[in-house]
Amino acid sequence: MILTIRNIVPIIKAQWVGQNNTAIIEYISIDSRSLQNDENTLFFAISGPNHDGHSYIEELIQKGVQHFVVTKIPSTVTGKANFLVVENTLDALQKFAAFYRSQFDFPVIGITGSNGKTIIKEWLNFLLSPDYNIIRSPKSYNSQVGVPLSILGINEKHNLGIFEAGISMTLEMEKLQKIIQPTIGILSNIGSAHDEGFSSVAEKIKEKLKLFVSVNVLILNKNKTICAFVNPKIKIFSWCSDDKSADVFITKKNIGELTELQVTYREDTFPITIPFQDQASVENAIHCMMVMLYFGYNHNVIQTRMAHLYPVEMRLKVKNGIYNCTLIDDSYSSDFQSLKIALDFLENQKQHKKKTIILSDIFQSGLSNEALYSQVSQLIISNKITRVIGIGETISQFKNKFINCDTFQNVAEFTNAFENLNFENETILIKGARDFNFEKIVSLLEEKTHETVLEINLNAIGHNLSFYKSKLKPKTKMMVMVKAFGYGNGGFEIAQLLEHHKVDYLGVAFADEGISLKNAGITVPIMVLNPETTSFSAIIQHHLEPEIYSVKGLKAFLKIAEQKKLKHFPIHIKIDTGMHRLGFEEENLQDLIAILKGNETVQIKSILSHMATSDDLKHDAFSKSQIALFEKLSSQLQTELNIKPIRHILNTSGITNYPEAQYDMVRLGIGLYGISNDAEEQKELENVGTLKSVISQIRTIDANESVGYGRRFIAEKETKIATIPIGYADGIRRSWGNGVGYVVINHKQAKIVGSVCMDMLMVDVTDIDCKEGNTVIIFGENPTVNFMAKQLNTIPYEILTSISQRVKRVFFRE
Ligand SMILES: *Cc1c(COP(=O)(O)O)cnc(C)c1O
Repeated sequence: MILTIRNIVPIIKAQWVGQNNTAIIEYISIDSRSLQNDENTLFFAISGPNHDGHSYIEELIQKGVQHFVVTKIPSTVTGKANFLVVENTLDALQKFAAFYRSQFDFPVIGITGSNGKTIIKEWLNFLLSPDYNIIRSPKSYNSQVGVPLSILGINEKHNLGIFEAGISMTLEMEKLQKIIQPTIGILSNIGSAHDEGFSSVAEKIKEKLKLFVSVNVLILNKNKTICAFVNPKIKIFSWCSDDKSADVFITKKNIGELTELQVTYREDTFPITIPFQDQASVENAIHCMMVMLYFGYNHNVIQTRMAHLYPVEMRLKVKNGIYNCTLIDDSYSSDFQSLKIALDFLENQKQHKKKTIILSDIFQSGLSNEALYSQVSQLIISNKITRVIGIGETISQFKNKFINCDTFQNVAEFTNAFENLNFENETILIKGARDFNFEKIVSLLEEKTHETVLEINLNAIGHNLSFYKSKLKPKTKMMVMVKAFGYGNGGFEIAQLLEHHKVDYLGVAFADEGISLKNAGITVPIMVLNPETTSFSAIIQHHLEPEIYSVKGLKAFLKIAEQKKLKHFPIHIKIDTGMHRLGFEEENLQDLIAILKGNETVQIKSILSHMATSDDLKHDAFSKSQIALFEKLSSQLQTELNIKPIRHILNTSGITNYPEAQYDMVRLGIGLYGISNDAEEQKELENVGTLKSVISQIRTIDANESVGYGRRFIAEKETKIATIPIGYADGIRRSWGNGVGYVVINHKQAKIVGSVCMDMLMVDVTDIDCKEGNTVIIFGENPTVNFMAKQLNTIPYEILTSISQRVKRVFFRE
């Protein structure tokens, strides 16, 4: 479909300000980082809690983007591009998507519910793809922004759509309904998840059902609570296991790891086997089967295809690879939409200059192969990918469309050639359809370490950042502390995310931490809290900004800065107001002023102090005295030096407890990583780090037998013991052993028995259904780092920063 600006203006009810309204729009974007943005892009400047799309317009214009949907035109870019001015840009994006959807007339399946949406969508895609050209929501794109973007992926060749809709508040579903316009509805399991936005379960059900106001049929599990709310005019196709009046009656039986269903539909009863046992998977599979029955598939086809259902993995994972490579593992799907998302993700991982993509054949684009691979190649070229490795018969035929491309017929052929492909110092995106078994490639490329990982949820970091931002006055700036390797969570990856979220400053403890961030391409200004005199040259060379806390330090810095003939080099002045760690005291202030008066070599970028008790209201009077002294001394500096620097004193708990002392900036630390010492506030934060390991071995010991060094655990009865490959050398305190702490295995707590060893610990799994290789949670949602710290009589900071560097960090986005 060809759309010009002129067509789009009335659809989104915009006021048009620009020169050329006949320009053709080929790509819709909301992500300033995407390398797919070009002169045919229409960029919607969406304002979220974290960032405002309007603030990226200037840099986008420099990159060649010409067309923007905005609420107002920023003064710096007036006249430099075409603007479609609307009242609300998200609303405009949704209107545009709704219009776009209405141009197509094929069956569209809309899925909502509390759980299982993404899995049902992925499975349906797998089950139906032999017969349809399917467009589906990529990943879990089911939000107010995700749904419109998914819909805009439709093209003329598609003949079936599968989209999921997720809501967290009232009024949202009506909007998603207008965009998806489903003709077939599926209501998946309604659990208690995401209840916060609704006043009651009834309200939640009613809201979700709004997706189905104009479907031809609604597929659901027959259930009195829900059916009471369904409009009787809507045709229902229901299943049930205890109510024979449902359209499809199903009984279930577990056979080992499988589930056998006896399905009675119309006059027939027939068996279907599903390769899963758990209740949730079985329900999701039944919903998929219902669609197949509704489409008129015969039992044999349903049976054959359902037997091959597989676990769905939707996350893009970042892993450490061999020879200093970074891997982005997306080895579970390959379609055009998710390729775009993966390439955007790749672009945000700036570790290496060299970028390689390993790509399988792409399925179900709806386009001819010729057209498809032309588009794929354009996409890959615009993303500046250095090398392309194609695996599959079809992509091999189109090798000449790509630059610097090797192709292989299958993974085995690739594996044979592996030694000669020389992977080194590059980011590698591994993206393949399931059938290609690209997990074999991932395991070839993955750095081999033991099985313990600290998983870092990048979405949670974004959430926590916006939570604290929401507590600030609009003008207050934000410095984020990424010292000590981002409190143990990962330095570069987190700095990268913060840079995108436009934080104003990063803070590190030592110069070398700042240097490695700068070397990796971070451009946000970085303050060094604790610069040693020996590192001043390096600080200057790498444009880091030192905190100066003594006359001696100031003189030493000035000496070097003068030799280098610097002018107005940014420094930060630390005042001691009661912490008594680092900083100028009141009596040094005159010396400081005398040195700096009229000095042109350095410029005081900011004045700061640090609070000793902002987390403890017992010491409220002391905290207030620190703030008062800061006000007094910093004002004195400002007046006598006639400067107006940024002033800042609050850390995380200061933001919470002393909002009146925000000054011009705050310094967020532990809160970003999901930890607060305020119980109410803790509820608002999302968990960032999950430390995971696996069960290496399970054994059963008899009563009176012992476990571990010193025989500190003696079994009272027959006991099942699991050994986990993580110990005090990984940062798990010895005092967490001997019955104090626990790990979580298959949602159950397993007590640590005996002493924690250097590289291992043992837990009691007598009452837990588990086997070797199962995942073990050391901390995360449960137990929380806060809880562990309390039990161990320490603080969460120490637990987080003690996790050894040998524990692999894996970053993911939902
Ligand atoms: C670490 C640090 C912070 C952040 O403290 P949190 O309690 O983690 O928020 C702020 N300012 C200074 C000077 C710090 O050293």
